[in-house]
Amino acid sequence: MDFYKPHYDVVIIGGGLAGMASALQLQAKGVKDILILEKHNMPGGLATDYVRNGFEMEASLHEMMSIGPKNARLKVGRFFDEMGVDVNWLPVPEPYRVVVPKAEIDAVLHDGYEQAARDVDKACPGTFEKVYELLKLCRRVYDSMDTIG
Ligand SMILES: Cc1cc2nc3c(=O)[nH]c(=O)nc-3n(C[C@H](O)[C@H](O)[C@H](O)COP(=O)(O)OP(=O)(O)OC[C@H]3O[C@@H](n4cnc5c(N)ncnc54)[C@H](O)[C@@H]3O)c2cc1C
Repeated sequence: MDFYKPHYDVVIIGGGLAGMASALQLQAKGVKDILILEKHNMPGGLATDYVRNGFEMEASLHEMMSIGPKNARLKVGRFFDEMGVDVNWLPVPEPYRVVVPKAEIDAVLHDGYEQAARDVDKACPGTFEKVYELLKLCRRVYDSMDTIG
């Protein structure tokens, strides 16, 4: 028997996250004959890791964004749910720290737009309204992109 079939419904070039996610989604929609061609000796693309002296080093991925809590999923979270991928995602309550030594700013930004704006306001008093508006605008842009996608 030949290794390859003479016909595939879809051929995906590249077994990175995009290629594999596409294959998963196509399969979920009923497309069965899918071939992923990967030129590297393992899949994953940029999302890869390696082991040195017994330590597994994550070379790229260190955070997953757009998951959202179970009752208010964002884009990536919805994708995983739809694909039946059940992972107990742990939220990072203090995802960002901004350090500007010259301005003596050292602010930890907590999860959530309002709280993050309050954190900025603590470091730069009087900025809450503008920062909160900016973050909400960012969210509207994000949602628009989601709709376009
Ligand atoms: C240092 C670093 C840190 C990152 N941190 C994060 C993070 O924390 N969170 C996050 O969400 N994202 C992060 N990213 C981004 C994320 O890793 C990439 O956006 C994602 O992995 C890209 O996936 P992809 O499938 O689009 O492309 P790629 O991963 O580039 O996959 C493309 C695949 O196609 C293969 N290919 C190319 N040409 C051919 C060909 N002609 N024939 C066969 N195969 C081919 C390649 O070998 C590769 O496997 C990071 C990236 C880097 C580099």
